[in-house]
Amino acid sequence: MSFENQSKENLRGTVPESISESIPENGDYMIRGTAADEQLRVFAVTSRGVAETARKAHNLSPIATAALGRTMSAALMMAYMLKGDKDLLTIRIDSDGPLRGLLVTADSHGGVKGYVYHPAVILPAKPDGHLNVGGGIGKGTLTVIRDLDLKNTYTGQIELYSGEIAEDITHYFAESEQIPSSVGLGVLMNKENTVRCAGGFIIQVMPDADEEVISRLEKNLAEIPYVTDMQREGASPEDILARALKGFDLHINEKIPVRFFCGCSREKTERALLLLGGVEIGEIAKQKQGTDLRCQFCGKTYHFSPDQLKKLRAEAGIDSSRASGT
Ligand SMILES: [Zn+2]
Repeated sequence: MSFENQSKENLRGTVPESISESIPENGDYMIRGTAADEQLRVFAVTSRGVAETARKAHNLSPIATAALGRTMSAALMMAYMLKGDKDLLTIRIDSDGPLRGLLVTADSHGGVKGYVYHPAVILPAKPDGHLNVGGGIGKGTLTVIRDLDLKNTYTGQIELYSGEIAEDITHYFAESEQIPSSVGLGVLMNKENTVRCAGGFIIQVMPDADEEVISRLEKNLAEIPYVTDMQREGASPEDILARALKGFDLHINEKIPVRFFCGCSREKTERALLLLGGVEIGEIAKQKQGTDLRCQFCGKTYHFSPDQLKKLRAEAGIDSSRASGT
């Protein structure tokens, strides 16, 4: 099988130019395929650059980086399952642990963004040396929202299982979509608290799968190391799937780059300001230095001077008087 050719053929022609670039320099990418005569649907991602970009954008603590990084890897693969070019998948966690939760949105062609509600939380590591993500998240809910065809929204929600993210996503698939799945996710930090490696896999069992396939898969999964332990030894997404699917015929059908991507812009920020209405904008315009509006998803700041705000106030004033009919 020629992987290069196949991957090019399968790239959708309508992917926006901004994110249809080749594999970025940091090497982040995602693959999907099938195994066991299509009885298994498989995905894997390497996302160190995605997690490190998020860490820097939000000044995340190691445990916040791990929680967000794991969720972003999951969201990337779950959004990759969507069919429409403009479809979006959002994972929201609302919880009682010190991190309080997080929000991640991914598109169907490798773009993801997200933030943690309390990004500076620091907790001691677990006895095995891994970051205590479950302790940081605590108890609460995991909500998955699919925005399809720009008009239909589908929401599924479960109680968090452990707060470690991978197990929670596994339970989400079982409870909300009735798809038996195995999910592995990991983020490993360097000593200086930058991201050393990040990634994950999702393996889904199709309804017609043989018992034999399921039991062999279970045996394989019980034996494989953590995702980041494999990555630390240089394993690629292909290698991770090959280990998880030892003894199966594995077909990789597509490979696409992934990256942290926020579509925010000055124009969109202006539109959001206009929604406040003329009176509110007028109040903000009284501040001599103007105001800085920060994008929650990527941390980018947009500055508005008093003069710019006054212009927007005039624009908003016309709209609101029309709306109220005065
Ligand atoms: Zn942004």
